[in-house]
Amino acid sequence: MEAPVTTWTDHTADRPISLTAPSGIDRAAHHRLDEAWLAAAWSHPTTRAFVVSGGQVLIDETADGTTELVMTPSFEAPLTEAHRYFLGTDDDGVSYFALQKDALPGRIDQSARAAGLREAGLLLSQRDAGLMVHAVALENWQRLHRFCSRCGERTVIAAAGHIRRCPACGAEHYPRTDPAVIMAVTDHDDRILLGRQVHWPEGRFSTLAGFVEPGESIEQSVRREVFEEAGITVGEVEYIASQPWPFPSSLMLGFMARATSAEINVDGEEIQEARWFSREDLRAAFESGEVLPPYGISIAARLIELWYGKPLPTRGAAA
Ligand SMILES: [Zn+2]
Repeated sequence: MEAPVTTWTDHTADRPISLTAPSGIDRAAHHRLDEAWLAAAWSHPTTRAFVVSGGQVLIDETADGTTELVMTPSFEAPLTEAHRYFLGTDDDGVSYFALQKDALPGRIDQSARAAGLREAGLLLSQRDAGLMVHAVALENWQRLHRFCSRCGERTVIAAAGHIRRCPACGAEHYPRTDPAVIMAVTDHDDRILLGRQVHWPEGRFSTLAGFVEPGESIEQSVRREVFEEAGITVGEVEYIASQPWPFPSSLMLGFMARATSAEINVDGEEIQEARWFSREDLRAAFESGEVLPPYGISIAARLIELWYGKPLPTRGAAA
Protein backbone atom coordinates (compact mmCIF):
# COMPACT_ATOMS: atom_id res chain seq x y z
CA MET A 1 0.00 0.00 0.00
CA GLU A 2 1.25 3.46 -0.86
CA ALA A 3 1.80 5.84 2.01
CA PRO A 4 -0.69 8.72 2.06
CA VAL A 5 0.75 11.93 0.72
CA THR A 6 0.72 14.64 3.33
CA THR A 7 1.74 18.25 3.06
CA TRP A 8 2.76 19.51 6.45
CA THR A 9 1.20 22.88 7.19
CA ASP A 10 2.97 24.25 10.20
CA HIS A 11 0.22 25.98 12.16
CA THR A 12 2.43 26.07 15.27
CA ALA A 13 5.24 28.25 13.87
CA ASP A 14 3.90 31.47 15.33
CA ARG A 15 3.96 30.20 18.91
CA PRO A 16 6.55 31.99 21.00
CA ILE A 17 7.51 28.76 22.79
CA SER A 18 9.60 26.95 20.27
CA LEU A 19 12.91 28.85 20.31
CA THR A 20 12.80 28.44 16.54
CA ALA A 21 11.34 31.82 15.57
CA PRO A 22 13.42 34.91 14.77
CA SER A 23 14.42 36.77 17.93
CA GLY A 24 14.81 40.15 16.25
CA ILE A 25 18.40 40.33 17.49
CA ASP A 26 21.28 40.90 15.08
CA ARG A 27 24.20 38.99 16.60
CA ALA A 28 26.58 41.48 14.94
CA ALA A 29 29.46 39.01 15.08
CA HIS A 30 31.78 41.45 13.30
CA HIS A 31 31.94 43.54 16.49
CA ARG A 32 33.12 40.72 18.74
CA LEU A 33 36.83 41.31 18.16
CA ASP A 34 36.55 45.12 18.18
CA GLU A 35 37.45 46.05 21.76
CA ALA A 36 36.92 49.77 21.18
CA TRP A 37 33.43 49.17 19.77
CA LEU A 38 32.58 46.80 22.62
CA ALA A 39 33.77 49.30 25.24
CA ALA A 40 31.68 52.05 23.64
CA ALA A 41 28.65 49.76 23.41
CA TRP A 42 29.05 48.72 27.03
CA SER A 43 29.07 52.31 28.28
CA HIS A 44 26.21 53.48 26.06
CA PRO A 45 23.19 54.53 28.15
CA THR A 46 20.69 52.40 26.21
CA THR A 47 22.71 49.17 26.52
CA ARG A 48 21.07 46.41 28.55
CA ALA A 49 22.67 43.56 30.47
CA PHE A 50 21.46 40.53 32.38
CA VAL A 51 23.17 37.95 34.55
CA VAL A 52 23.29 34.28 33.60
CA SER A 53 24.36 31.79 36.23
CA GLY A 54 24.14 28.02 36.13
CA GLY A 55 21.72 28.14 33.20
CA GLN A 56 19.38 30.47 35.07
CA VAL A 57 18.38 34.10 34.68
CA LEU A 58 16.05 36.41 36.60
CA ILE A 59 12.60 36.84 35.09
CA ASP A 60 9.77 39.10 36.20
CA GLU A 61 6.16 39.78 35.37
CA THR A 62 5.30 43.14 33.93
CA ALA A 63 2.19 45.18 34.69
CA ASP A 64 0.47 43.87 31.55
CA GLY A 65 0.96 40.27 32.64
CA THR A 66 3.78 39.32 30.29
CA THR A 67 7.05 37.90 31.56
CA GLU A 68 10.40 39.46 30.73
CA LEU A 69 14.07 38.95 31.32
CA VAL A 70 15.27 41.21 34.14
CA MET A 71 17.80 43.53 32.51
CA THR A 72 19.61 46.54 33.89
CA PRO A 73 21.39 49.41 32.19
CA SER A 74 24.96 48.21 31.69
CA PHE A 75 26.42 51.02 33.79
CA GLU A 76 24.55 49.68 36.81
CA ALA A 77 25.87 46.17 36.25
CA PRO A 78 29.20 45.06 37.69
CA LEU A 79 31.90 45.10 35.03
CA THR A 80 33.56 41.69 34.88
CA GLU A 81 34.99 41.81 31.44
CA ALA A 82 36.28 38.25 31.55
CA HIS A 83 32.74 36.98 31.85
CA ARG A 84 30.91 39.41 29.58
CA TYR A 85 29.19 38.05 26.50
CA PHE A 86 28.10 40.36 23.70
CA LEU A 87 24.82 38.97 22.33
CA GLY A 88 23.91 41.50 19.64
CA THR A 89 21.84 44.56 18.86
CA ASP A 90 18.16 45.14 18.07
CA ASP A 91 16.46 47.23 15.39
CA ASP A 92 16.62 50.30 17.64
CA GLY A 93 20.38 49.98 18.02
CA VAL A 94 20.20 48.76 21.61
CA SER A 95 23.11 46.44 22.51
CA TYR A 96 22.65 43.42 24.76
CA PHE A 97 25.19 41.73 26.99
CA ALA A 98 25.05 38.79 29.37
CA LEU A 99 27.25 38.65 32.44
CA GLN A 100 28.22 35.20 33.60
CA LYS A 101 28.47 35.11 37.40
CA ASP A 102 28.71 32.50 40.12
CA ALA A 103 25.28 33.47 41.41
CA LEU A 104 22.33 35.52 40.30
CA PRO A 105 22.16 39.02 41.81
CA GLY A 106 19.95 39.85 44.75
CA ARG A 107 16.36 40.24 43.68
CA ILE A 108 15.82 43.54 41.96
CA ASP A 109 12.24 43.60 43.07
CA GLN A 110 10.12 41.18 45.01
CA SER A 111 8.40 39.52 42.10
CA ALA A 112 11.59 38.67 40.15
CA ARG A 113 12.61 35.05 40.32
CA ALA A 114 15.27 32.68 38.98
CA ALA A 115 14.29 30.46 36.07
CA GLY A 116 15.98 28.02 33.73
CA LEU A 117 15.32 27.78 30.02
CA ARG A 118 12.69 25.04 30.26
CA GLU A 119 10.47 27.38 32.29
CA ALA A 120 11.53 30.77 30.95
CA GLY A 121 11.40 29.60 27.33
CA LEU A 122 7.66 29.13 27.72
CA LEU A 123 7.09 32.57 29.21
CA LEU A 124 9.49 35.00 27.59
CA SER A 125 9.07 36.94 24.34
CA GLN A 126 10.96 35.66 21.30
CA ARG A 127 13.54 38.39 21.80
CA ASP A 128 14.18 37.59 25.44
CA ALA A 129 14.10 33.82 24.90
CA GLY A 130 16.59 34.25 22.05
CA LEU A 131 18.93 36.32 24.22
CA MET A 132 18.65 33.82 27.05
CA VAL A 133 19.33 30.73 24.95
CA HIS A 134 22.40 32.40 23.42
CA ALA A 135 23.75 33.29 26.87
CA VAL A 136 23.01 29.85 28.36
CA ALA A 137 24.67 28.07 25.45
CA LEU A 138 27.80 30.24 25.78
CA GLU A 139 27.90 29.72 29.53
CA ASN A 140 27.66 25.94 29.16
CA TRP A 141 30.42 25.90 26.58
CA GLN A 142 32.69 28.19 28.64
CA ARG A 143 32.17 26.07 31.74
CA LEU A 144 33.10 22.82 29.97
CA HIS A 145 36.03 24.15 27.90
CA ARG A 146 38.31 25.88 30.36
CA PHE A 147 41.32 23.85 29.22
CA CYS A 148 42.89 23.55 25.80
CA SER A 149 41.91 20.30 24.10
CA ARG A 150 45.18 20.43 22.15
CA CYS A 151 47.76 20.95 24.92
CA GLY A 152 45.85 20.96 28.23
CA GLU A 153 46.73 24.53 29.25
CA ARG A 154 44.09 26.79 30.79
CA THR A 155 42.33 28.86 28.09
CA VAL A 156 41.18 32.49 28.28
CA ILE A 157 37.96 34.07 27.03
CA ALA A 158 38.04 36.21 23.87
CA ALA A 159 35.72 37.66 21.21
CA ALA A 160 33.19 38.84 23.81
CA GLY A 161 32.55 35.28 24.93
CA HIS A 162 32.62 33.50 21.57
CA ILE A 163 36.22 32.21 21.49
CA ARG A 164 38.55 30.65 24.06
CA ARG A 165 42.23 31.11 23.31
CA CYS A 166 45.12 29.02 24.53
CA PRO A 167 48.05 31.24 25.63
CA ALA A 168 50.44 28.27 25.47
CA CYS A 169 49.91 26.82 21.98
CA GLY A 170 47.87 29.59 20.34
CA ALA A 171 44.86 27.39 19.57
CA GLU A 172 41.49 29.10 19.24
CA HIS A 173 38.49 27.14 20.42
CA TYR A 174 34.96 27.93 19.22
CA PRO A 175 31.61 27.15 20.84
CA ARG A 176 30.44 23.62 20.14
CA THR A 177 26.99 22.68 18.95
CA ASP A 178 26.22 18.98 18.83
CA PRO A 179 23.60 17.98 16.23
CA ALA A 180 20.82 15.73 17.43
CA VAL A 181 17.83 14.45 15.48
CA ILE A 182 14.25 14.28 16.74
CA MET A 183 11.59 12.71 14.57
CA ALA A 184 7.88 12.09 14.40
CA VAL A 185 7.60 8.72 12.63
CA THR A 186 4.30 7.92 10.93
CA ASP A 187 3.15 4.67 9.33
CA HIS A 188 1.01 3.71 6.32
CA ASP A 189 -2.14 4.23 8.38
CA ASP A 190 -0.89 7.72 9.39
CA ARG A 191 -0.42 6.64 13.00
CA ILE A 192 2.45 8.21 14.98
CA LEU A 193 5.19 6.33 16.81
CA LEU A 194 5.82 7.60 20.33
CA GLY A 195 8.19 6.12 22.86
CA ARG A 196 8.84 6.27 26.58
CA GLN A 197 12.46 6.57 27.69
CA VAL A 198 13.65 4.24 30.43
CA HIS A 199 14.04 7.09 32.94
CA TRP A 200 10.77 8.85 32.17
CA PRO A 201 7.74 8.55 34.44
CA GLU A 202 4.88 6.27 33.51
CA GLY A 203 2.69 7.87 30.85
CA ARG A 204 5.35 10.21 29.44
CA PHE A 205 5.57 9.48 25.72
CA SER A 206 7.27 11.53 23.05
CA THR A 207 9.01 11.40 19.70
CA LEU A 208 12.24 9.44 19.38
CA ALA A 209 15.53 11.33 19.34
CA GLY A 210 19.26 10.79 19.37
CA PHE A 211 22.67 12.21 18.55
CA VAL A 212 24.19 12.33 15.10
CA GLU A 213 27.31 10.16 15.10
CA PRO A 214 30.67 10.98 13.49
CA GLY A 215 30.70 10.36 9.76
CA GLU A 216 26.91 10.19 9.53
CA SER A 217 24.39 12.29 7.60
CA ILE A 218 21.35 13.51 9.48
CA GLU A 219 19.08 11.35 7.29
CA GLN A 220 21.17 8.30 8.15
CA SER A 221 21.01 9.30 11.79
CA VAL A 222 17.19 9.49 11.75
CA ARG A 223 16.92 6.01 10.25
CA ARG A 224 19.55 4.49 12.54
CA GLU A 225 18.05 5.95 15.73
CA VAL A 226 14.51 4.83 14.90
CA PHE A 227 15.70 1.33 14.06
CA GLU A 228 17.94 1.08 17.15
CA GLU A 229 15.36 2.36 19.57
CA ALA A 230 12.14 0.88 18.17
CA GLY A 231 13.09 -1.66 15.49
CA ILE A 232 11.18 0.32 12.85
CA THR A 233 12.64 0.91 9.39
CA VAL A 234 12.25 4.41 7.91
CA GLY A 235 12.07 5.52 4.29
CA GLU A 236 11.27 9.13 3.47
CA VAL A 237 12.69 11.73 5.85
CA GLU A 238 11.54 15.35 5.71
CA TYR A 239 13.21 18.18 7.60
CA ILE A 240 10.78 20.46 9.46
CA ALA A 241 12.59 22.83 11.83
CA SER A 242 15.47 23.11 14.27
CA GLN A 243 15.76 24.26 17.85
CA PRO A 244 18.74 25.28 19.99
CA TRP A 245 18.84 22.90 22.94
CA PRO A 246 21.70 23.92 25.23
CA PHE A 247 21.38 21.06 27.70
CA PRO A 248 24.33 21.44 27.47
CA SER A 249 25.12 22.07 23.77
CA SER A 250 22.74 20.39 21.34
CA LEU A 251 20.97 21.58 18.25
CA MET A 252 17.78 19.60 17.74
CA LEU A 253 16.96 18.95 14.08
CA GLY A 254 13.29 18.05 13.73
CA PHE A 255 11.92 15.68 11.08
CA MET A 256 8.81 13.93 9.91
CA ALA A 257 9.73 10.39 8.88
CA ARG A 258 7.81 7.60 7.12
CA ALA A 259 8.00 4.10 8.52
CA THR A 260 8.36 1.23 6.07
CA SER A 261 7.71 -1.41 8.73
CA ALA A 262 5.21 -1.65 11.60
CA GLU A 263 6.40 -4.20 14.13
CA ILE A 264 7.89 -2.48 17.17
CA ASN A 265 10.92 -3.95 18.90
CA VAL A 266 12.26 -1.55 21.56
CA ASP A 267 15.88 -1.66 22.64
CA GLY A 268 15.01 -1.62 26.37
CA GLU A 269 18.10 0.50 27.06
CA GLU A 270 17.03 3.95 25.91
CA ILE A 271 13.39 3.24 25.11
CA GLN A 272 11.28 1.23 27.53
CA GLU A 273 8.10 1.18 25.51
CA ALA A 274 6.91 2.43 22.13
CA ARG A 275 3.44 2.47 20.61
CA TRP A 276 1.63 3.49 17.45
CA PHE A 277 -1.11 6.03 18.10
CA SER A 278 -3.89 7.09 15.75
CA ARG A 279 -5.18 10.63 16.35
CA GLU A 280 -8.20 9.14 18.11
CA ASP A 281 -5.94 6.91 20.27
CA LEU A 282 -3.83 9.87 21.28
CA ARG A 283 -6.80 12.13 22.02
CA ALA A 284 -8.36 9.45 24.21
CA ALA A 285 -5.05 8.71 25.96
CA PHE A 286 -4.45 12.38 26.75
CA GLU A 287 -7.98 12.90 28.00
CA SER A 288 -7.93 9.85 30.25
CA GLY A 289 -4.52 10.80 31.60
CA GLU A 290 -3.01 7.53 30.36
CA VAL A 291 -0.54 9.56 28.30
CA LEU A 292 0.88 12.90 29.47
CA PRO A 293 0.83 15.60 26.77
CA PRO A 294 4.33 16.69 25.71
CA TYR A 295 3.94 20.31 26.65
CA GLY A 296 7.02 22.38 27.17
CA ILE A 297 9.54 24.11 25.01
CA SER A 298 10.73 20.96 23.25
CA ILE A 299 10.25 20.78 19.50
CA ALA A 300 8.73 17.33 20.15
CA ALA A 301 5.40 18.92 20.99
CA ARG A 302 5.49 20.91 17.77
CA LEU A 303 6.23 17.83 15.66
CA ILE A 304 3.41 15.88 17.29
CA GLU A 305 1.01 18.80 16.77
CA LEU A 306 2.07 19.04 13.15
CA TRP A 307 0.94 15.46 12.64
CA TYR A 308 -2.13 15.88 14.87
CA GLY A 309 -3.31 18.83 12.77
CA LYS A 310 -4.43 21.10 15.60
CA PRO A 311 -3.42 21.93 19.18
CA LEU A 312 -3.16 18.82 21.31
CA PRO A 313 -5.99 18.20 23.76
CA THR A 314 -5.31 18.40 27.47
CA ARG A 315 -6.37 15.98 30.15
CA GLY A 316 -10.09 15.96 30.65
CA ALA A 317 -10.73 18.54 27.92
CA ALA A 318 -13.27 18.00 25.19
CA ALA A 319 -11.57 17.76 21.80
ZN1 LIG B 1 46.86 24.82 23.90
